Amino acid sequence: MVQNKMGFDKEVFKKSVIDNVKMQYRRTIDEATPKQVFQAVCYAVKDVIIDEWIATHKAYDKEDVKKVYYLSMEFLMGRALGNNIINIMAREEIRQVLEELGFDLNVIEDQEPDAALGNGGLGRLAACFLDSLATLGYAAYGCGIRYKYGMFAQKIENGYQVEVPDNWLKDGNPFEVRRNEYACEVKFGGYVRVERDMDTGRDHFIQEGYQSVRAVPYDLPVVGYGNNVVNTLRIWDAEPINTFNLDSFDRGDYQKAVEQENLAKTIVEVLYPNDNHYAGKELRLKQQYFFISASIQTAVRKYMDSYDDVRKLYEKVAFQMNDTHPSVTVAELMRILMDEYQLTWEEAWKVTTRCCAYTNHTIMAEALEKWPIELFSRLLPRIYQIVEEINRRFVLEIQAKYPNQPEKVASMAIIYDGQVKMAHMAIVGSFSVNGVARLHTEILKQQQLKDFYAMMPEKFNNKTNGITQRRFLLHGNPLLADWVTEHVGNEWITDLPHISRLKVFADDEKAQQEFMNIKYRNKLRLAKYIKEHNGVDVDPRSIFDVQVKRLHEYKRQLLNILHVMYLYNMIKDNPDMEFYPRTFIFGAKAAAGYYRAKLTIKLINAVADVINNDKSINGKIKVVFIENYRVSNAELIFAAADVSEQISTASKEASGTGNMKFMLNGALTLGTMDGANVEIVEEVGKENAFIFGMSSDEVIKYETEGGYDPMEIFNSDQEIRRVLMQLINGYYAPQDPELFREIYNSLLNTYSSDRADTYFILKDFNSYHEAQMEVEKAYRDEKRWARSAILNVASSGKFTSDRTIQQYVDEIWHLDKVTVEL
Ligand SMILES: *Cc1c(COP(=O)(O)O)cnc(C)c1O
Repeated sequence: MVQNKMGFDKEVFKKSVIDNVKMQYRRTIDEATPKQVFQAVCYAVKDVIIDEWIATHKAYDKEDVKKVYYLSMEFLMGRALGNNIINIMAREEIRQVLEELGFDLNVIEDQEPDAALGNGGLGRLAACFLDSLATLGYAAYGCGIRYKYGMFAQKIENGYQVEVPDNWLKDGNPFEVRRNEYACEVKFGGYVRVERDMDTGRDHFIQEGYQSVRAVPYDLPVVGYGNNVVNTLRIWDAEPINTFNLDSFDRGDYQKAVEQENLAKTIVEVLYPNDNHYAGKELRLKQQYFFISASIQTAVRKYMDSYDDVRKLYEKVAFQMNDTHPSVTVAELMRILMDEYQLTWEEAWKVTTRCCAYTNHTIMAEALEKWPIELFSRLLPRIYQIVEEINRRFVLEIQAKYPNQPEKVASMAIIYDGQVKMAHMAIVGSFSVNGVARLHTEILKQQQLKDFYAMMPEKFNNKTNGITQRRFLLHGNPLLADWVTEHVGNEWITDLPHISRLKVFADDEKAQQEFMNIKYRNKLRLAKYIKEHNGVDVDPRSIFDVQVKRLHEYKRQLLNILHVMYLYNMIKDNPDMEFYPRTFIFGAKAAAGYYRAKLTIKLINAVADVINNDKSINGKIKVVFIENYRVSNAELIFAAADVSEQISTASKEASGTGNMKFMLNGALTLGTMDGANVEIVEEVGKENAFIFGMSSDEVIKYETEGGYDPMEIFNSDQEIRRVLMQLINGYYAPQDPELFREIYNSLLNTYSSDRADTYFILKDFNSYHEAQMEVEKAYRDEKRWARSAILNVASSGKFTSDRTIQQYVDEIWHLDKVTVEL
């Protein structure tokens, strides 16, 4: 596939790389290390990007377009270099330049640390959205935090997860630009003094006795694909506001200076490694207010540079809140409009509720953010006053609509039971509330948020998530990308539904063979990675059955590994049975404080140890735990997968996006009817996927009415019982037979206060097993498999984030498209 950009000059680029090595490292190119070449190439690419970046912002100003600010605590960007090279359409030229200089582009790309400023799906969604916004030519800022330490790196030691700090900035970040001129102040604590203006009768609210930090933005370019558009990801660093003034300090000043310095240091120190779980830490609320205050202040200021009436802010600005983490936006915007621009409450509320929109990402109770009033009001005294007033007015509305129904106030109030409920504030302060897959949005409307839906149905809408095909096919799977282009042309790169033209090749034997051969070569590439990183040999001819995602009970990695134990027993009992060789591949980080999740990692590794070393099964099963799952190795993994494990308890996975990346790369889904799996099956047909387990309605019914007793299954099913007993008889932990007792208990419960088997693992077990047997049967028929795999690729058009973003634009943000000429 030769795609190049008009005006890209190889010789100029080559000279730029050589000069950069010289200037930065005082070395000639032939003496340079791959890391030094990596840095030099980044600066050379930045040189190309920078003019487009400037031109883009000029075009936005000139064409007077509306902007969206995508507010997110997380941006899981992965590596920038390979993506930027693809999007400036100079990959082939740059590969050649490096070859001429004696370097391999892939090796150079591998020098880059992942920008892992996110946990999992939510952060990766934000990254895909930025790619699509730039590619579609919409004015957008991503706003986030420049964490000094991103998502921890995971080491596996003795089968256990060990967290290693991710010092991703230690060699600098070549693409970032520090923007001192946009630095601003963010205030915490103190108290609010009210001053009445005797002329106007208006009260002024003045925060005093506070501590503050200086927020300094670093901009990262977000390059659109082949369209000269470069948007901005703006991440905020914190610095102390005043440096020590050694001449004039008294004790109090000194104390305060030290405290402010500590505040600035701690605020951006580290990303919280929790996925779908709220920990309630004060520092987390400080992080939230820090980046929101800085982002909203800057956005309003920028608007006022070009326009004079802040009452019309909503005509040019939309704020999209990625989950409730940024929901303090509602109160902060009210504060700025009232306290800094003197709007009345009513005027400010009108503007705020026309600018703000909220995306819900989960129905899981433990993820709901609620802050104790004491903490919230102490840290953000002025913001708390505003939240109280929003709440007071909203409660009046509830009471007017539902007189004598205090349960409605209890279920919807923003402040209740001593807590500030961030989701409620986000809903009340927004004009749009969206879920992230059709099923998820329906569950929100019918269950979790049904009272809000009854009161304000017009706000609710669905935006099924998507992924960018430019990273997850064009960059991650070049062999398949070229094959697709040879067959259907290259329109899919910016218009994924075009990929459906592949359907006519699904029954073509030559195409099937080519497809399976590409899959095989990608499996070889992953096998090599696994050998290098895990020291395990895996057979690329075996079925690559993959579950990679954050480790969480609801995602049910436990179901998968218990089933591996079950299969292993089967093979040991019947050594001659037919069994198609399988490689079970896991990759998952557990939150550092999530004991059960970490124990599940240990279990997977313990099972791997026993099975991989059992010569008697002739390598029919291999189990591999890939260390440090992250965007860069994810790209290799999706390309090599045959089976995509999407086995969450129905109703619990809001959407999933890993499922879409697998589909795009021709893996077949083995999954429950949960999240976007429902829509994937709708697109590809249920005969090209393996669906099992309870429906979300059944799960919800058991949750509300009870009536599920895992002991009945344990007592009646001998093989399931055997697997469970192996958790507590030392079969996989001879030195410590009690090691997995906690997991055994979670399934059958005896001690813990939780209900047993909250995630219905035993309930779905046999259905899962049957689906797994169907997988084997289907894989044995190579033509059938190739056909299904090709149909998966061909049916993935809906799941591009370009489609998702276009829906946000059409139905929520109403942005104008821009073209950038150089
Ligand atoms: C896509 C992605 C996720 C989300 O995976 P799910 O299976 O949807 O939970 C998490 N981490 C990384 C690195 C990803 O690329």
